[in-house]
Amino acid sequence: MIQKKVCMIGAFAVGKTSLVRRYVSGIYSQRYLSTVGVKIDRRVIATLGEEITVMLWDLAGEDEFHSLRTSYLRGAAGYVLVVDGTRPRSFDTALRLQRIAETALGDIPFVLALNKHDLAESWRLEEAAVEELRATGWHTMPCSAKTGEAVDALFADLARRMLEAEVPPRG
Ligand code: GDP
Ligand code: MG
Repeated sequence: MIQKKVCMIGAFAVGKTSLVRRYVSGIYSQRYLSTVGVKIDRRVIATLGEEITVMLWDLAGEDEFHSLRTSYLRGAAGYVLVVDGTRPRSFDTALRLQRIAETALGDIPFVLALNKHDLAESWRLEEAAVEELRATGWHTMPCSAKTGEAVDALFADLARRMLEAEVPPRG
């Protein structure tokens, strides 16, 4: 059984815990989900003819800085960088956290999750800035923990790339 650790990374209240809950349990709770310490959820996903157990690491509270700790990141095969599309500052925070994660973990797969896409009328992200990242090869995905939009898709994309990163090309 292949197991992969995935860290949820992003500013406070962008929807990291909600995305994990949606992905793992298929539910969304309006209630504020304050957890203590690290919470690890898992879901088995089939990709490229293999079954992978994705271990989702999520932090509680003022996690923006804790998420940079080596003890949190150690051993991760991928990460989800979460932005709240209604809060442009959370985009800047994500870029900063990504650089730190890359320094700690190297060039491993990650997805930039542009969450709260259900709040389209309050969307405040600059399309050009997102496009720029896509042009450099970033996988970015508008999604919503509330409606479930693209939540499975973003974890599936990550799982496939984590597996590809593990298997050396044949031939
Ligand atoms: P975390 O601090 O990053 O773990 O964020 P939470 O998952 O605790 O979510 C913070 C707040 O944003 C909560 O009030 C959630 O209900 C809300 N939230 C999370 N995801 C979404 C979403 O996709 N759409 C909307 N409208 N609200 C969301
Ligand atoms: Mg949380």
